[in-house]
Amino acid sequence: MTFRVTFWGTRGSIPTPGPATARYGGNTPSIEVRRPAPDGDAVAILDGGTGVAGLGRQLVANGSPVSVDLLVSHTHWDHIQGLPFFQPFFEPGSQVRIWGAKQGGVDLEEILRNQMSPVVFPVPLDGLAAELAVQHIGAGEFEAAGFAIRAMQVRHPGTTLAFRLTPADGGTSFAYVPDNELGSGGDYDLPASWKSDFVEFLRDADVLVHDAMYTPDELEDHRGWGHSSYMEAVQLAVEADVKQLVMFHHRPEHDDDTVDRMLEQARTAAKTLGSSIDVIAAREGLELTL
Ligand SMILES: [Zn+2]
Ligand SMILES: [Zn+2]
Repeated sequence: MTFRVTFWGTRGSIPTPGPATARYGGNTPSIEVRRPAPDGDAVAILDGGTGVAGLGRQLVANGSPVSVDLLVSHTHWDHIQGLPFFQPFFEPGSQVRIWGAKQGGVDLEEILRNQMSPVVFPVPLDGLAAELAVQHIGAGEFEAAGFAIRAMQVRHPGTTLAFRLTPADGGTSFAYVPDNELGSGGDYDLPASWKSDFVEFLRDADVLVHDAMYTPDELEDHRGWGHSSYMEAVQLAVEADVKQLVMFHHRPEHDDDTVDRMLEQARTAAKTLGSSIDVIAAREGLELTL
């Protein structure tokens, strides 16, 4: 094993708890990527949706202070909403390095500070016990938590990044694309070559976690909303020749049985395309070993 991926939040848009979503989960996006190391594991977190609250509690239970790298795809609520409840923030000596893009010229730190403004939250960002370092990134490469990470902008409102993580010393790779509109619709400031560039960005990834929020029928009423159908996600995964596709960012309106049906249809679609790709749907608690 070179690293392990754990899903703490898989739902898009708004937390959706309750018996109808218990299997796939109701928390918004957060994924733990852990690289075992003899002198302490390196941990990267992808997004700070409500799933990050449970992850934060576990990190502190495993030993405080905590040192983590947190990658933010973009700052829509469902991807940062859990951060004010991220327990390592409140642990003296903990270090949290946050990587993400500015939004409309607004610094990421400013966005996080506003989210914890006294009119909506009791503890201000400047009152946190942990040491915070915010690093602005755009499309390109950087290194964090022992991974070589490539970032690419995708078709979603604001500056939204996809991430591809490969251990810095080589090995399998994991791609994370929570929110992305693969079809026509929307007005995104991206080059005409975007789609082929994106396929190359994902080429041969071992695991691709991708937005699969809609059924093909639902997509027709939601063009320009910044999301994809499971069918589009399957076509992309086949085109990029990834080994495994993980359907992600489940729609709040979809209960577990609906996600089951979408998964079946996605698997059938992959077979119809002549692909042997493994298709699964993300659920809270799911662990993948790469
Ligand atoms: Zn989202
Ligand atoms: Zn979004």
